[in-house]
Amino acid sequence: MNILTPNSPTAELQALDAAHHMHPFTHGAALREKGARIITRAEGVWLNDSDGNRILDAMAGLWCVNVGYGREELAEAAARQMRELPFYNTFFQTSHVPAINLAARLAELAPDDLNHVFFANSGSEANDTNLRMVRAYWHVKGQPERTHIIARWNGYHGSGVGSGSMGGMKSIHSQGGLPIPGIHHIDQPHWYLEGGQMTPEEFGLARAQQLEEKILEIGADKVAAFIAEPLQGAGGVIVPPATYWPEIQRIVDKYGILLIADEVITGFGRTGQWFGCQTMDVRPDIMTVAKGLSSGYQPIGASIVSDEVARVIDGVEFNHGYTYSGHPVACAVALENLRLLDEEGIVDRARTHVAPYLKQRFESLADHPLVGEVKIIGLMGSLALTPDKPSRASFAAEAGTAGLITRERCFANNLIMRHVYDRMIISPPLVISHEEIDTLVERARLSLDEAHAELI
Ligand code: PLP
Repeated sequence: MNILTPNSPTAELQALDAAHHMHPFTHGAALREKGARIITRAEGVWLNDSDGNRILDAMAGLWCVNVGYGREELAEAAARQMRELPFYNTFFQTSHVPAINLAARLAELAPDDLNHVFFANSGSEANDTNLRMVRAYWHVKGQPERTHIIARWNGYHGSGVGSGSMGGMKSIHSQGGLPIPGIHHIDQPHWYLEGGQMTPEEFGLARAQQLEEKILEIGADKVAAFIAEPLQGAGGVIVPPATYWPEIQRIVDKYGILLIADEVITGFGRTGQWFGCQTMDVRPDIMTVAKGLSSGYQPIGASIVSDEVARVIDGVEFNHGYTYSGHPVACAVALENLRLLDEEGIVDRARTHVAPYLKQRFESLADHPLVGEVKIIGLMGSLALTPDKPSRASFAAEAGTAGLITRERCFANNLIMRHVYDRMIISPPLVISHEEIDTLVERARLSLDEAHAELI
């Protein structure tokens, strides 16, 4: 077989890709017709493709490359670890240095008494771990009927059977019997789309109170946990009204239900603090992390759990784990990534220097005729596209979805933004410079202008 390289012709790369590679979250036939965009190299916030384009990655890959591309230290950490101990497992009373160090460092960074770490290889896996762990927790505590999990429509927790069930994406549920039994969903705190005539504050409270209603409907003694992202990412960067999280916290406290904060996107500086629950001022019993944990340089995820959850689970053999739980190379890279985020002040600088400038520049897009709302927290932002600002209307689906058209214009202008229906999203590397932010906003405005001309 002829092994291709980053310098091979695009057409050849696309043809072989189309012949054998099944892509995640992709319409295969449509991709084959058009050919994939082939990314070959990356540095800082910039991607290169096989046609020689230099593209500003305003999504940090899939919300994950927090330290930016091209960090030699991470490549070195991987190579060093591969030479020393490329693999050993952490099953059956065994451990190794990278897993020990990373677990201890995560316990140091995580808030309150979240001091214990169960490793996985992705966010989906870590959420499957959480689903099993909260059920095991109540079982060990002598309340085995507490198995029900409450989650939210339009939340995203991964695409495995458990994580995809807890997520509230109907497009995932519709392809094969999800959600599995025992998973329930309440509505999301998405004021712009669903708030009607309520104020954001009234709406935030009403949506949080759905949790209490759902608990009472299921039976408080049957509910194991509530899972939510501190702010929804894949659902469209939905920032909940200020009244939402305090009410959720009151309710989970009142009924003694475990709170799982899915920090897969919001962890490691994305919202300006180390964790999104610090930005939103909530106290989870379990946090899911992945993505920014290694800045995407290695696949790794984890559940970080409280002293109490760990104490209870420690009482039994927890029959769960992955061959690569705490993979030494992934742990070594993650540890080095956390060192960079901390010692280079990347998280602090993101909060004090990057986020304020990005907010100011990104919010300047509010005057664009297509933009009905701009939301941004830390380095996570979204624009709602609308044909009519005062009514917060959505574009008709048959318009080809305004978001898709705008995303395609961004691609053509060498800017990666993502869209969720009519929302355009950014989540750039935390190391983006002010000048690069200017470029991001200029290219976004140009793309919006072009989409506007096409749509209206
Ligand atoms: N949880 C959240 C909040 C996510 O955004 C994602 C991925 O985008 C996941 C879980 C799933 O993570 P992974 O794709 O690593 O399985």
